[in-house]
Amino acid sequence: MDFTHLLADRTKTMGASAIREILKVVSQPGMVSLAGGIPAPESFPMEIMGELTAKVIDKYASGAFQYDLTEGFPPLRTALVTYLAQKGIQATADEIMIASGSQGVLDAVAKVLIAKGDKIAVEAPTYLGALQAFNPYEPEYVRMDTDDDGLIPESLEQVVQTHKVKFIYLVPTFQNPTGRTIPVARRKRIAEIVQQYEALLIEDDPYSALRYRGENLPPIRTFAPEHVLYISTLSKVFAPGLRIGFYVGPPAISRWMVIVKQGVDLHTNTFSQALAAEYLAGSYLDQQLPKIVNLYRPKQEAMLTALDKYFPNNFMWSKPEGGMFIWAEGPQGIDAEELYWKAIEKKVAFVPGKYFYTQPGEGLATMRLNYTMSDEATIDRAIKTLSEVIVKELR
Ligand code: PMP
Repeated sequence: MDFTHLLADRTKTMGASAIREILKVVSQPGMVSLAGGIPAPESFPMEIMGELTAKVIDKYASGAFQYDLTEGFPPLRTALVTYLAQKGIQATADEIMIASGSQGVLDAVAKVLIAKGDKIAVEAPTYLGALQAFNPYEPEYVRMDTDDDGLIPESLEQVVQTHKVKFIYLVPTFQNPTGRTIPVARRKRIAEIVQQYEALLIEDDPYSALRYRGENLPPIRTFAPEHVLYISTLSKVFAPGLRIGFYVGPPAISRWMVIVKQGVDLHTNTFSQALAAEYLAGSYLDQQLPKIVNLYRPKQEAMLTALDKYFPNNFMWSKPEGGMFIWAEGPQGIDAEELYWKAIEKKVAFVPGKYFYTQPGEGLATMRLNYTMSDEATIDRAIKTLSEVIVKELR
């Protein structure tokens, strides 16, 4: 029996994910993948997981295995007060909500806010997972221009002047996919604009802790606390499989996000939350974070060095101070998806950048390169191979 006729109209419009289709070949044996977006398993604090587990059982007993509040496990929310304060975000435990990853937050945002046809302002390019969270609610996307310093404030202003947008979605630090970071002056200007136009900004910040050089920057939320829903996660600084995301937002919205979460999963996994609470409160994160940064820094340097050494000089690429991605762009006329298939033959994978745009025809010559999953020598070899493929194509 084929039950596809039962699918809701909106499900049919979602279609199969083209990017998922093309990335299927990445798991072939011998493939070096610069296509992933996941943390290195060596970044997980495996040596303390046993100790943390014992602590959780000792401290919370059956409470760590029981149903709990939809808002989140209270000791974790308390521990996050200090964590967020270090980023400059003032919030009480009651204002901090837990979700199943930042992805869970994006889903709740979409469910609570987006009605069919609503306009959402996004960077071009933007995080694909956010579009996947928003798409089922059938929004229309309004693109905002970016440059090497991320979102261009004038473009944001023009968008909010000319469109009635439901919200603005931004990844201001070490953005996925570009690795770009919005400098402080622009953050302040963006904050002024959202205040002036009484707009809501969704600030998605999974990567700011992964800084290999330079100074930490204040989240945009610190400049416009009433207009920004700030989202972060422990996925890149603890373990993504635990699915711990959190947010601080305008109370009128957070309240509804909690109500819709009840219908999704009642609450985030209590045991994971208890582990996370101990990880933060017991200062384990303070010890682990430098290890993660020291693990990724040389990988990123290896990729930047290899790009300098091998890539054709009509290519440009981002030089982020942290995060997990580098964004490369070739001359007009280059088709990165064609390069992708040629690179696959040579056992190197990356993500063609066009998938991170909401409008067809954009970003055809761009590619997202990830460096967290391979060692330095492999990264060097992969970039060399990729360059050879490109040079051959350009000829
Ligand atoms: N937002 C951005 C910008 C991301 O890159 C990711 C992870 N790839 C997420 C959200 C989701 O992360 P998680 O659900 O693991 O917190």
